[in-house]
This record gives sequence, structure tokens and C-alpha cells, in this order.
Amino acid sequence: MYIEMNAKEMSNIMNMQPQLDMDLENKYLLLTPGPLSTSATVRRAMQKDWCTWDQEYNSLVQDIRNRLVNLATSEPEKYTVVLMQGSGSFAVESVLGSAIPRDGKILIINNGAYGARMVQMARCLNIEVVELNYLETQSPDLQEIERVLEDKTISHVACVHCETTTGILNPIQEIGCLVKAAGKIWIVDAMSSFGGVPIDIAELEIDFLISSANKCIQGVPGFGFILAKRDCLEACKGLARSVSLDLYDQWNTMEQYNGKWRFTSPTHVVRAFYQALLELEAEGGVAARYQRYLQNQQTLSQGMQQLGFELVLGEECPQSAIITTFLYPTAKSFSFQSFYETLKKSGYVIYPGKVTDLNCFRIGNIGEVYIHDIEGLLAAIASYCESHLNQAVTA
Ligand SMILES: *Cc1c(COP(=O)(O)O)cnc(C)c1O
Repeated sequence: MYIEMNAKEMSNIMNMQPQLDMDLENKYLLLTPGPLSTSATVRRAMQKDWCTWDQEYNSLVQDIRNRLVNLATSEPEKYTVVLMQGSGSFAVESVLGSAIPRDGKILIINNGAYGARMVQMARCLNIEVVELNYLETQSPDLQEIERVLEDKTISHVACVHCETTTGILNPIQEIGCLVKAAGKIWIVDAMSSFGGVPIDIAELEIDFLISSANKCIQGVPGFGFILAKRDCLEACKGLARSVSLDLYDQWNTMEQYNGKWRFTSPTHVVRAFYQALLELEAEGGVAARYQRYLQNQQTLSQGMQQLGFELVLGEECPQSAIITTFLYPTAKSFSFQSFYETLKKSGYVIYPGKVTDLNCFRIGNIGEVYIHDIEGLLAAIASYCESHLNQAVTA
């Protein structure tokens, strides 16, 4: 079967080209935790096609791997990195499914949707799980963790660093000390923090750290990566519960064949990621990027509170520079959908809330977002409050 096309229709299609080019400029800024706003140069880096087994492409992959290990620690010789196709969750699942032996048992510390997702994955993979649950607005209890870790049959512990559900920053340094003192393997989902919050994985004694292309490195979505202690990764040989997500096999192919992926790799995304890494370095590395995010977050948080909005996280909760959660204003006339649509028309896309039992929304600070963008957003929100809520939210 084929669709017949006359000359006019054909020429219409050909004429769409200039229109597409004009659309390359973003219509709005994404104030979301990823996919996020990327730079025009990162997007432009995707315009060429690459051959997956070509040496030029594979050396690009090796270069990316080297840069990632050096971003993660001052002791790069102890660590290695695997790139894994798919969104961030695929990378998390590849670690859970490949690192835990059949007689292993994992403790998962859960204070949000991403901790809960790890529990769901472990159960689905038939891994024995001990779950420590906290409210989404609560920091994990270190004494309780220490007590649970006395269980000798627990072999692995996993926790999210920045729980993107609220923006809370979990105390991975303190938890890591307990995990290591108890002799367990330490897995950290640093998806939304790696590259935007300074961390040294060797200092923190992390065995597996997971992140993805479209968060603080500011690439586009398409793959995740796993930084792992070399000996821990070698120990995964033969343990995988899945072929496509076999962490050891993926790593072994990349090592043996100088940056070759086992299966089709997201070539354009990888090329854009390389550009994003160069731009991170040009900005001054993770420390400088962290300062930018921090300023964004502080300006946002203060400005919103001046407009009468309330934070969901209490002062006792460590707030990350990544994303902030606000309660809906109390004004009866408030509708999130109308708020969202109005801000979008002004050029800002915000994020719905994810906290159970609370009416809230989130605003991200990561990506190609600068202080003047946050100021512009605050002005748009102030104007919305005036026109739609009769200033009802003004303190
Ligand atoms: C984004 C994110 C993930 C992965 O989500 P995907 O939608 O699969 O990319 C996992 N954990 C955290 C903490 C995240 O922020």
C-alpha cells in the first residue's frame, strides 16, 4: 500500500523545511528536572549522523567515559563508567538487576517516588528487599538505618541523593559511612544531582552511582551512565537478570572494543552529550555550575515566598539547588492548569507536584537557566497573581 501524492502535496512537504528551521529556537524555557533546557550549541551538535562501530565515534565514547570518571572523583583509577541506552530508570534497573547475587538482599531507603521506583524494580526482579519508608517531606533516620544494617543478610543498600519528588537532599555521606562500616555494597541514585552538586564518589565510598544524560550535565535524553568501583563492576559478571540491561556485559564490550556499545547506541544524543560536557568544563566545572543553580534556587525561593507562596519542605529538611516544591496558594480561584498555561504563554514551563496528599507544584533550576530567567519567571508569576488571584497570595 502506498499513499499517492500529487505534485502540489509533494511541494508542500518540501516547503516545510524552512519552517522547521525557524522552529529551532525554543518557544519556552523548561523549568523542569529533565529533560531540561539545553544550549543551542548542544542541540546543534545533533545535526550529524554517526556510524556506531566507526572508530571516530567510539573514541568519542571513550573520551566521554574518561571525562565522566574525572568529574566524579579525584581518584579516577579506582572507578570506571558504563553508558546504558534508555532513560535514567533503565540505568538504575541495570544496576539492581546486575549487581545483586541470587542470595543477596537489598535495603532501599525510600522517601519519594524514585526510592519507591527502586523498590518496585527490585521486587519485579525477584530480589529480596528491606524497605525503610519515610514521608516525602522527611529526612531518613540515621539511627534506624544503623539498626537495620545489623542484619547480616543485607548485602546492598540503595538510596536516592536528590529525591526529585520534593527536591530534598538526602544525607548520602552519613548514610554511606554506616553502609561501609557494616560492609555492604553502596548504590546511589544521583540522577538529578550528578554534575550539579559537587560529589567525590571515592571520598563517599560509593560503589555504584547512577545518573543520566538529560539532568545536570545538560544533555538531551537517551542514555544513562553508571560510575562504578572497578572491582564491584567486575564482580557483576554472570549475575544479570536481563540481557539488554546486563551491566557487566555492556561494560566489558566498551572496555574490550574501545568504546563500542553492545547494541545500537543513541549516536546523536551521545554527540550532544560530549558537547554538553565541554560546556560544563567551560563554565568552570561542577563547582561553578553548582553556584549558578544555587543562586537560581535562592532567588526563586525568596521571590516566591515574597509573593506569598509556601515551601513544602520545612527548614529542617536540606533543600537541594535542583528543584523546589511549593504549595498551591490558598486562594479559591487558583487553578494549576490555568497557572501553568499562563506561565507557558509567558515563556516558562513549570512542573506539577508529585507529593502524595499535598497540592503542590515544582520549579526546577537546572539546565540552561540563569538568574535573569528566574527573575523573569517571578515577574510573570507576580503578574499572574495580580490578575487571576486579586493579589490574594501577596503576603
Ligand atoms: C530523573 C530521575 C530518575 C530517572 O527518571 P527517568 O524518567 O527514567 O529518566 C531517577 N531518579 C531520580 C532521582 C531522578 O530525578
